[in-house]
Amino acid sequence: MAEYFLGMRLQLALLAFALTAPIAAQPGGNRGTPIQPGESCPLGMTEIRPRNCMGPGSPAPSILDYRPKSMLIAPAHPRQKARFPVIDFHGHPGGLLGSVESLARMGAALDSLNIRLMVSAGNSSGDNLKRTVAMIASSPMKDRVRMLTGIDFRGAGGPDWAQNAIAQLEADVAAGAVGVGEIGKGFGQTTRKADGTRLQVDDPILKPIWEACARLRLPVFIHTADPEEFFKPIDNSNERWLELALFGERRYPADRYPTFEQLMTERDNLFRKHPKTTFVAAHLGWHANNLERLARMLTDFPNVHTEMGAVLYDIGRQPRASHDFFIRFQDRILFGKDSFQPEEYPLYWRVLETRDEYFDYYRDYHAFWKMYGIELPDSVLKKVYYANAVRITPGLPKTGWPQ
Ligand SMILES: [Zn+2]
Repeated sequence: MAEYFLGMRLQLALLAFALTAPIAAQPGGNRGTPIQPGESCPLGMTEIRPRNCMGPGSPAPSILDYRPKSMLIAPAHPRQKARFPVIDFHGHPGGLLGSVESLARMGAALDSLNIRLMVSAGNSSGDNLKRTVAMIASSPMKDRVRMLTGIDFRGAGGPDWAQNAIAQLEADVAAGAVGVGEIGKGFGQTTRKADGTRLQVDDPILKPIWEACARLRLPVFIHTADPEEFFKPIDNSNERWLELALFGERRYPADRYPTFEQLMTERDNLFRKHPKTTFVAAHLGWHANNLERLARMLTDFPNVHTEMGAVLYDIGRQPRASHDFFIRFQDRILFGKDSFQPEEYPLYWRVLETRDEYFDYYRDYHAFWKMYGIELPDSVLKKVYYANAVRITPGLPKTGWPQ
């Protein structure tokens, strides 16, 4: 008991000291390095008290090796299966479409997640498309996979290019393609016209192509640019430092590539100039970090929908804003995942369906921060999971979805 009171007294004395002592005399303070207001600490140091920096006494782990284990105990509702059947509009199942056996393996994975339909966004065209469609049709997966076709933009503007591209598009639709895409990020960045110049996203020579897509009722699934940080210098303030250091080809320095804003301007021109064509802007148009801007895009262009693949890290770090955004644009957002990794989908269900807090994302190089659930109501989940995709894509199965 006496020891207890002694301890209490000591604590109170320390508290009084901390409250009254000048800043420089606070624990650690007199060992620190002062900085001016508005300055940040020198590298290797952290701000331990206002305007006073200090470096750790032991070597700091690298960005790769610092893996703090959260001590938060909070309700957790991980979900293996989505609450409603799902269409993955941004599927890249790749080799799994190669044989009836691998299709069956994919089917088992889809069943375990409650994904009813995989849209293969692999630009499959010509004989390759025909072969794949025939194999899917002959397998138990015949109602579980649909194919998008691609447009070969190389050499655009050359003699008969548009005419040939449209003929191929028509042949691919006859073979079973239900849309176009994923038009990749090379379009606008690296693809060259017949005359050797960069093919701009809004180039008027492509007008007949977009008009053909409208006539054939094909949604155009398009990925333009990449996260804005990829266009910025790779330094200590870049949120995607780790990704850019891992994948050097994702850097787009301004002396070799159009800027992010240039590409967004061209993309928006494309959407504006072809109001009868249905576009689906992949990856939330790379505006998931700026939902106001994404809202503007969807408001300005009623012919545009958007898809949420590979940007869950931005949805899950602003749960209230994301929730309100999904409610507001519930008719315009499609579910998509991008890279086919069955073990990653459950995190999507958890972010979209629950109100769980502060849980891990699955790739540190996308996001070293935590996720929060946005708890969408069932009516909105159904639209995002399947109803919007079914509505804008005439070639998808219309029946068998929950009401
Ligand atoms: Zn993409």
